[in-house]
Amino acid sequence: SGDDELQFRDPEKAEQLTDELEALMDEIGEPVNVMHVCGSHEQAIAKFGLRSILPDDLTVRMGPGCPVCVTNMPEVDEAVALAEEGKIVATYGDMFRVPGTEKSLADARDEGADVRVVYSASEAAEIAEEEPDREVIFFATGFETTAAPTAAVLTSDPPENFSVLSAHKYVPPAMEVVAEMPDTDVDGFLAAGHAATITGYGLFEDFVEEYDTPAVVGGFEPIDVLYALARLLEFIRDDEAGLENAYPRCVSREGNVPAKEQLWEVFDTTSGEWRGIAEIPDANLVLSEDYAHFDARERFDIDVDPGAADPLTEDCICGDIMAGQADPDECELFGEECTPQDPVGACMVSSEGTCKIWLEYGGQP
Ligand code: SF4
Repeated sequence: SGDDELQFRDPEKAEQLTDELEALMDEIGEPVNVMHVCGSHEQAIAKFGLRSILPDDLTVRMGPGCPVCVTNMPEVDEAVALAEEGKIVATYGDMFRVPGTEKSLADARDEGADVRVVYSASEAAEIAEEEPDREVIFFATGFETTAAPTAAVLTSDPPENFSVLSAHKYVPPAMEVVAEMPDTDVDGFLAAGHAATITGYGLFEDFVEEYDTPAVVGGFEPIDVLYALARLLEFIRDDEAGLENAYPRCVSREGNVPAKEQLWEVFDTTSGEWRGIAEIPDANLVLSEDYAHFDARERFDIDVDPGAADPLTEDCICGDIMAGQADPDECELFGEECTPQDPVGACMVSSEGTCKIWLEYGGQP
């Protein structure tokens, strides 16, 4: 409700928490780098100007938390190829303008292809029902939060002319890869509350142990973020690779069990390239054998050359930004040649992309 929202935006509480953060940083006595892995966290941090009230030597950066940004060019090319063959391709608005090797889905639509922007997987299945004589492909992107609803549609007997081109990604393995990168310096993770509502925070137990890095699951209101940061700084001060759920009103240890079961009934993990970052084992979600008949890659012979793509244009540092090694304003193209109207890299296309969020909220939040 509105009251709840206000409670989590209370300026007095925010001030108490920033004082607590300052005190913790004094105790730690050296700069601290925190990574979060969620576009919604970046939006909250930028929108409420939280970086301006954080202690100076506490850096909070967004890692690979934008599923659209890490969608690989050949995946976009596959969707474009299907659309150009006269099939209906439905996808989320965020994906529409992401450049492929030669064109985006928006370009394909300008040239006459039938590309539809939808808000959900079920809306894409409805199109298939309305157009029984056409093949309708849902180009599915996003992390666990959107993969679960895709799975729900596939388990509820969708029309036969419906299929899924999955570019769904799974966050935890990407956190592992980023935690291991020699040039990425992360003292702790602010784990994404949204993904954890599905998978549960228990998932991070092995992670904190194996990578000896603390993690705190946080929500998306200013107080949630500040509170989660304070818990994380306590772990860092105590040199403890602890795990805490600071978002208990939405996240449990087990998560949403039925949604999780459905997710793993429909999807398997496989290794895949995350655009600009790395080839990440087990971080792409593909349809399982039981659902292969709904897999667009099984159903159609998609003619794309996976080697043709140049993953990022030369001056775009989107990959470094998503690996926590740079900020958008370090990119020479930021807000100049690269804008949301005319994006060079995927980080400027998606509403979850760091570059777009920074530009939207005033350049250097
Ligand atoms: Fe890439 Fe544009 Fe971001 Fe620069 S501003 S890193 S070109 S997306």
